[in-house]
Amino acid sequence: MTTSGIVPVIDFAPFLSGTPAEQKATATELLNAMKDVGFLMLKGFHSEQTVTKAQVEDAFEHSKRFFALPQEEKSKLAYTAPGRESRQYSFRGYNAPGKERVHNATSEEEIAKLRAKAPDMKETMEIGREDGDSPFPNRWPENLPEYKEFMVEFFHSCHKLHLQVMAAIAVGFDLETEYFFPMVEEQSHNLRLLNYPAVPNTSVGEGGNRAGAHSDFGSVTLLFQDSVGGLEVQDKNGEFVPAVPVPDTVVVNVGDLLQRWTNDVLKSTVHRVVVPQGGGEMTPQRNSIAFFSNPGLTQMIRCLPELGAPKYPPVKCEEYLYRRVEET
Ligand code: CA
Repeated sequence: MTTSGIVPVIDFAPFLSGTPAEQKATATELLNAMKDVGFLMLKGFHSEQTVTKAQVEDAFEHSKRFFALPQEEKSKLAYTAPGRESRQYSFRGYNAPGKERVHNATSEEEIAKLRAKAPDMKETMEIGREDGDSPFPNRWPENLPEYKEFMVEFFHSCHKLHLQVMAAIAVGFDLETEYFFPMVEEQSHNLRLLNYPAVPNTSVGEGGNRAGAHSDFGSVTLLFQDSVGGLEVQDKNGEFVPAVPVPDTVVVNVGDLLQRWTNDVLKSTVHRVVVPQGGGEMTPQRNSIAFFSNPGLTQMIRCLPELGAPKYPPVKCEEYLYRRVEET
């Protein structure tokens, strides 16, 4: 089997359009990767029933155009910190720790200094399900044609890809293909666009963490990354191993809630993003797009009875996510 570092690369096409036997074989491969590593890369996932290749390419274009907007435009969409009273655990809008300081700097020299001090400086844009009922309304830029329309559609396509991943997990466990569907149909997911600006290589060192070591909270995360890379996945000895981008793949990883849901059979693995080493004077700009999927917020998550005596009591999805956000 092909791997990138310790992350298996799995062809998803036989699951999407193969015979039942081919589907089962692919589902087993996917499940084994989730049990063993907690991470995998899917190739052959592009399709009309999931996300097309053109959509992924367009998503990066739209994302770049968004981040290229004047700082004032982006700052208008800034999200507010989660309030204790509002019990908010989901973010919508733009966030740029450190970016404002750089924006307010007056000289090139000052900007260079600030950037050198904060090589992990990044910008994010968070998008949720677009409808009137969402407790967390989206924030859309005014002057970016087609962006909203595209992202609403892309969000839905990512949801469909996530459904196929959940279907593969179900088949891998010998459950009904659509076993998880009623619990995830609410689409309480977060689509996050990320932009890591180019930084001088001199600023890149031991402190070059773009996202510190963490595990994801939800069910599964889908990550589209460009060729710059930087994702590292922790192995069984606690070492971080680069997951070098493989063209036309999507990274899939298990979140903490799915680990709990599967009674610790599937593994939510610690990972981080670092500034890639080597290259020229500047480490290039990096873009990635993450889709954090979750069960419906009011769903009770119980350890699957098929997977042995439950290790955890049932928990309401929303309660679990809120607690996790509070902890950090
Ligand atoms: Ca993550």
